[in-house]
Amino acid sequence: MSLPQFKLLRPRTLDEALWLLAKHSDAQRGPHSVRIVAGGTDLIPSMRQKLFEPQFVLDIRHIAELNGIRQQGSGVEIGALTSLTTIEHSAVLRRRYPVLTEAAATVASPLLRNMGTIGGNICLDTRCLWYNQSLTWRKGCGFCIKKDGDLCHVAPGGSRCWAAFSGDTPPALLCLNAEIEIAGASGLRRMPLREFYTNDGIAYRNLQSNELLTRVFLPESSADYRGVYCKLRVRGSIDYPLAGVAVVMKRSNGHVADARVAITAVNPAPLLLKGASELLIGKMVDEAVAQAVGNLAAKTAKPLTTSALTPEYRREMIRVFTKRAVLQAAEAQN
Ligand SMILES: Cc1cc2nc3c(=O)[nH]c(=O)nc-3n(C[C@H](O)[C@H](O)[C@H](O)COP(=O)(O)OP(=O)(O)OC[C@H]3O[C@@H](n4cnc5c(N)ncnc54)[C@H](O)[C@@H]3O)c2cc1C
Ligand code: SF4
Repeated sequence: MSLPQFKLLRPRTLDEALWLLAKHSDAQRGPHSVRIVAGGTDLIPSMRQKLFEPQFVLDIRHIAELNGIRQQGSGVEIGALTSLTTIEHSAVLRRRYPVLTEAAATVASPLLRNMGTIGGNICLDTRCLWYNQSLTWRKGCGFCIKKDGDLCHVAPGGSRCWAAFSGDTPPALLCLNAEIEIAGASGLRRMPLREFYTNDGIAYRNLQSNELLTRVFLPESSADYRGVYCKLRVRGSIDYPLAGVAVVMKRSNGHVADARVAITAVNPAPLLLKGASELLIGKMVDEAVAQAVGNLAAKTAKPLTTSALTPEYRREMIRVFTKRAVLQAAEAQN
């Protein structure tokens, strides 16, 4: 599958990137006339499948200020271009925010983690069996709402897209109460990561076409929590999650002092589990408590036929993985 024709833009500074984005993303040219590429591990295969045919591709890899992990005040700042390998091996992140290094280490394969960035992982397009296919394949089944068509093969009769958000690091970042910085024509804005996702398979993130993600912030208040990330995938060596769960926990005198749980790949957005903290805080973690959190995760998950595994199996695995992750996070502190 060949790449469509496009013009490559290579800014060296953030200001230059923003100027180019503003110049090429005006409404008359359509919302996708320019696409940002970081590691390219997701965008390039998608362009080969003709899911995106932008006039311009903005390669941000040479913007040095967006790369690296820095101690910032009392927390940690991660540049959007920091590779997943750098995150996986960062001593400070391993020690203070282990759920993130654990999640990063499960993404794809070592080669893809060398190229893939944290910004690209956060901004990842949603995935569906009916969408991540070649043009010929999609044409053969009449396309779908997410690209070129007017029906959904997963929820026929509906007008909404249920493609699943399938990134591994966002559930870990949600558990850590991470914030993100977005740069655009009107300056910088900072928001909690949980407000970035819309839970819609098409317009899945709150990002304008003239904006880019610049940094991720991990607060000091989320440091030193035990963390566990569990992931269901077809091939253990290289695959997107088909269900995933992150848990962070702090204990005091054997009881849970604080905890958060987030799920991925079973909804159009990664989600912090509402009510999970309440089920855990103040309790001694045992099978029954972990099972209750697993049941809550299974209730929140809305897997549909967007992947090769059945929705029923993925929902059940979210229940099982959540229970296991909660028990493991508690064990890690004994
Ligand atoms: C075989 C295979 C297996 C994979 N398995 C996994 C997996 O297990 N788990 C997983 O999470 N991912 C997986 N991926 C996807 C991908 O490798 C990772 O998600 C990676 O982190 C994407 O980062 P990137 O820098 O390569 O993103 P890119 O491909 O460069 O970009 C991805 C998307 O984000 C946008 N984008 C990138 N950076 C920014 C920015 N700073 N601001 C605004 N928008 C931006 C791009 O426009 C594009 O829409 C897999 C990919 C392949 C090919
Ligand atoms: S959920 Fe429906 S509309 Fe969305 S990508 Fe899949 S088939 Fe297309």
